[in-house]
Amino acid sequence: MTSAGVELQNDCVLGIDIGGTKMAAGVVALDGEVLSVVKIPTGGHADAEALWDALADAGDEALRQAGVDRVAGVGCGCAGPMTWPEGVVSPLNIKVWREFPLAARIHEKWPHGPARVHNDAVCVAIAEHWMGAAKGSANALGMVVSTGVGGGLVLAGRVYNGGLGNAGHIGHMVVADDGPECPCGGRGCLEMYAAGPRIVEWAQQRGWSPDEGANADGITLLASAEGGDEVAIAAFRRSGESVGQIIASCAALLDLDVVAIGGGLINAGNLLMQPLLESFDRHAGFRFVRRVQILPASAGQNAGILGAAALVAAGDVYWTQIRTT
Ligand SMILES: [Zn+2]
Repeated sequence: MTSAGVELQNDCVLGIDIGGTKMAAGVVALDGEVLSVVKIPTGGHADAEALWDALADAGDEALRQAGVDRVAGVGCGCAGPMTWPEGVVSPLNIKVWREFPLAARIHEKWPHGPARVHNDAVCVAIAEHWMGAAKGSANALGMVVSTGVGGGLVLAGRVYNGGLGNAGHIGHMVVADDGPECPCGGRGCLEMYAAGPRIVEWAQQRGWSPDEGANADGITLLASAEGGDEVAIAAFRRSGESVGQIIASCAALLDLDVVAIGGGLINAGNLLMQPLLESFDRHAGFRFVRRVQILPASAGQNAGILGAAALVAAGDVYWTQIRTT
């Protein structure tokens, strides 16, 4: 297999998934088999170098556990924003890294191949296309509904990056003109309607509260909804409806084959999915829009690592650097 002209000598790559709460590194075979996974917390590091050292150690430990001494390259998904394709990152929720040259540091540490860094949600979408619900489809949207709402696009069989690598920010598509202000600077964004913390806030404003001793989070809200609490049910309904509306818009714009939805809120099952599909049904008109398959994500627990690994393991399918600006 070749990758950007580089002959891959080894039969596995290192995949790294960096989020605001935890980081994971794993060795992945070129056929997508995950050979090792090492997870560590992201927080608690004094400065940029301490965090990098912890990540580098986790990567080495993943190699050791997989029994390999070198890999064909390293793919990394990281929370944004970042400068792409250079891989200089300033993740909103990782304050010690500002303009941190992540791709350069990865390459310095594991020099036997390419080092490629992309948005973490894009990597999850890649995992769904490589090994999950969107496998075999040419035009797919992968999305994550969790603490935030993120996504990535595979169009005509390739990752679609956009001009600066930011395509797929579905959480900031507009649901309502008069909606709440969003930290992105916009207003009425999908994330303000659908993300876990937002629906918990919405429910609390309408009188819902967790049982004594329990946290006010998505898990307790889900337990309330499953127990028949009307406000909790309405909170998931509102989330699902907003996601369904935006999926109909995306399908109309992009003529999609598959939308794969992952993230913690999918655990709500039909409390989320039924209103989502009903809302999609109301908003999707054209037959080409209605044909899109809306599926739960299936790449599993290690989707972030898998998608990151695929940046290298799948050659140039998920990594093209056509700058349009
Ligand atoms: Zn926004």
